[in-house]
Amino acid sequence: MNSIAIDGPAGAGKSSIAKMLAGKLSYIYVDTGAMFRAMALYLLRCGVNAEDAAAISAHCKEADITIRIKDGAQVVLLNGEDVSPYIRTQEVGEMASRSSVNPDVRAKLLELQRALAARENVVMDGRDIGTVVLPDAPVKIYLTASPEVRAKRRCLQLEESGQTADYDQVLAEIRERDYRDMNRAIAPLKQAEDAILVDSSNMTIPEVLDTFLKIAEDRLGK
Ligand code: C5P
Repeated sequence: MNSIAIDGPAGAGKSSIAKMLAGKLSYIYVDTGAMFRAMALYLLRCGVNAEDAAAISAHCKEADITIRIKDGAQVVLLNGEDVSPYIRTQEVGEMASRSSVNPDVRAKLLELQRALAARENVVMDGRDIGTVVLPDAPVKIYLTASPEVRAKRRCLQLEESGQTADYDQVLAEIRERDYRDMNRAIAPLKQAEDAILVDSSNMTIPEVLDTFLKIAEDRLGK
């Protein structure tokens, strides 16, 4: 099986590009952030406090998170329920970022991610795919963009979906999330030594996709 690992901070465009890349190559797209979000949704539903590590460790064991591939896209199931419509909120994102520092949460999802990659050709995106989950992946890309550009893109997305967006607040949240992801003890966000860095700050989506395709072809020897 071939694996393509894509890591980078929130809002760099990983999931949009990874999904398109998977489509072009006929690989399965695996969004590991969605798994952390499904776990976070479960913890929120249990009323667990984000600061209560013992409660997170205990409750995460009850959450059965699986994914199903429907029309080439990933559907996340939490104890059998399709929770895809509920995991994209700010509240769930915040809880995902906080609970993902927990070793029990990470161990549980790591196992699932590796099992998927052993079974299918995958484009997997996240924070620790190239460093921890799939250290032997033949293709590794670290996609980033400046916090300001990511905040602007996020505001546009929010406005397009009819929500109000406060640029300064969005920027502050992005910086805070970056800090937490990059400084946690287990599997922090960082570029793998053999990953290729792509900075999308001044690139269009088709340009980024084209760059990714060239990297993949080059590394997979096609
Ligand atoms: O990518 P997304 O914003 O959906 O991820 C939600 C949170 O899940 C991130 O802020 C990060 O803390 C966590 N995450 C992680 N490792 C991954 C993917 C996501 O810790 N591989």
